Amino acid sequence: MIHLSKKLMEFDKALSDILEVKKPWFIREIDVHKGTKSVNVFIDYEERTTFKCPNCEQQCKVHDSRYRVWRHLNIVDYRCYLNVKVPRIKCDRHKVLVIGEVPWGRLNIHFTHLFEQEVMKLCAEMSVSAVAKQLGEVDTTLWSIFHYQIEQAKKKQLNFSEVRRICVDETASKRGHNYVTIFSDADSGDVLYATEGRTQESFAGLYSELFEHMGDPNYINQFIMDMSKSYKAGWAQYFSHTQIIFDRFHIKKGLNEAIDKVRKSEVGHVEKLKRTRYLWLKNQCDLNEVETRMLKEFMEDCNYNTVKAYSLKAGFDQLWNVQPKAVEPLLEVWINKAKNTYLAPIKTFINTIKNNYNGIISSMKTGLTNAAAEGINSIIQLTKSRARGFRNVNNFISMIYMLGNDFKFYHSTK
Ligand SMILES: [Zn+2]
Repeated sequence: MIHLSKKLMEFDKALSDILEVKKPWFIREIDVHKGTKSVNVFIDYEERTTFKCPNCEQQCKVHDSRYRVWRHLNIVDYRCYLNVKVPRIKCDRHKVLVIGEVPWGRLNIHFTHLFEQEVMKLCAEMSVSAVAKQLGEVDTTLWSIFHYQIEQAKKKQLNFSEVRRICVDETASKRGHNYVTIFSDADSGDVLYATEGRTQESFAGLYSELFEHMGDPNYINQFIMDMSKSYKAGWAQYFSHTQIIFDRFHIKKGLNEAIDKVRKSEVGHVEKLKRTRYLWLKNQCDLNEVETRMLKEFMEDCNYNTVKAYSLKAGFDQLWNVQPKAVEPLLEVWINKAKNTYLAPIKTFINTIKNNYNGIISSMKTGLTNAAAEGINSIIQLTKSRARGFRNVNNFISMIYMLGNDFKFYHSTK
């Protein structure tokens, strides 16, 4: 008997260590239920313990108490619940109120800190709905944990003091709906700020976020973004002291669109041009054998407007690969050549270049690879692949923060 009770005491002590049950708390009872595969651990506090008033920190006597339940990490495949006797104290100044905190979990939610950490660990690797399934909880519950943890991580772990160059990207949380603007650090690739909408005001949000996280708008020296009116307006209002660099991909897209417009206006009377859209949009190196032959045939006949427009493309792409000092003269040559096509969509594109001249020249001169932008793109794709079970744009935004940063989720017990 003595031997057995000694063993039990050892188990009790081991469990106390594992659950970090320290004075004045102690494990009063452990109830293992095979039918429901659950373990209930009852934790009490020693008699005559006094607790701090959460408002004035004065040690106060206990008024009354009741058990509150937190779900903890499983013990093997048994669900584990901590039933903690949580006291209300009576403070001379603040009357009767619940103590401010217990070591295992937040007072207003039913999961321990360690359980919340586990949720975040799993959410980094799979969709929230998959995590919900695995843990046997509803996904709305997990989303609320998720948001809380992300907010905490943002507050404590985002530090913008080293940020100098910012990429601006947009994406839609659903096809054609709920646009989200994402600002990221062009050097580290971290997501700095993600917000609903793609307006001038998105930049106002970024401006104040910089101050929130030890950044300073005056230290920012470059913005890499597309040529949309609202972004340009936002930049002009808040960050006009910085250099603007238009995103290479978006600039090239402008020319591609112009080429496609030319093709569309011609396709009515040139049967051959039907269903060739991608032939002109793709990079030459991405064409297959049939397409390459087809393109060659077209190029031999310069009478097509589409061919004229297309022949501008390679030279335009080259402008990103030349010496910085050669950019402006070569662009001038290119513009003159483009003008000579007398094609309306090309003329419009030339105007786009003129209206966004500095940002385009900077793009060509700095030759900034869009590595960071591509990094963000892969984060966006990953976020979307987790989209199953997204109920709203806020979930989408929180997931972008999660996947776009190297957040650590831990809670230190005192
Ligand atoms: Zn008090």
